[in-house]
Amino acid sequence: MINNNRFYVPALLAVIVSACAVSPTGRRQLALVSEDSAIVASEEAYAMQIGDLRKAGKIVSESSSVARRVDAITGRLVAQAIVMRPETADWEWSIEVIEDPEMVNAWCMAGGRMAIYTGLIQKLDPTDDELAQVLAHEISHALANHTAERMSVAIATNAGVALAGVLSEDSQRAMTTAGLAAVLAIQMPNSRTAESEADEIGIELAAKAGYNPNAAISLWQKMASAAGGGPPQFLSTHPSPANRQQRLAELAPQMMAYYEQARRNPPTRSVARADN
Ligand SMILES: [Zn+2]
Repeated sequence: MINNNRFYVPALLAVIVSACAVSPTGRRQLALVSEDSAIVASEEAYAMQIGDLRKAGKIVSESSSVARRVDAITGRLVAQAIVMRPETADWEWSIEVIEDPEMVNAWCMAGGRMAIYTGLIQKLDPTDDELAQVLAHEISHALANHTAERMSVAIATNAGVALAGVLSEDSQRAMTTAGLAAVLAIQMPNSRTAESEADEIGIELAAKAGYNPNAAISLWQKMASAAGGGPPQFLSTHPSPANRQQRLAELAPQMMAYYEQARRNPPTRSVARADN
């Protein structure tokens, strides 16, 4: 479908609801876009973006060791995400590894569609526990409905120019306004409040999946060290709350019981690949 009015805001009113949602940590969110609308838009955005990357040969083979490692960690985290929010069992949980050695980044859209870039793995050299913290943090943004929140900001600020280089011209023309907002949402910085929420939910999710909570602290230290040659993309989309290290250090001991219990026999769930 060709949509030449993709930034024409009235066209978007169909997907806007006037609900005021409450995040899992009790914060009130102004939800211009409902979670269901965000999930539908993200499905479209994910298919286009991954499709473009696949055509360009930038999707790492699912049989590669890096993809299998990412899949195994994601599967354990998704099993716990569903325990935390049972309705997400209906989400199309999926992950792709994107070949880009310079991009230190990962994201999860509304509805559980995720990606991680090879640059994050190569430059940070994370342990499994640390990689689990990255992915758990991303999943937490989706569980806490932050994508819809950022889509609302993308629409309100009409930030269409930020799309350059992310989607092919053809894909940009073909995508609906809401789909473009979903792409923008993963490129825009989260608020520091949303970051704190994702930190809190993420460390618990990872612990319940059998990953060491202390890795949340070492991960962010590695992320800061990697900023030497210019800040990683991950830090620009995930700005640091002032007390991040301190808060994670306080939370880690509280998560140890979950970790000790889960590490013996963590449940897992298979994670899909994007259809393309
Ligand atoms: Zn974040």
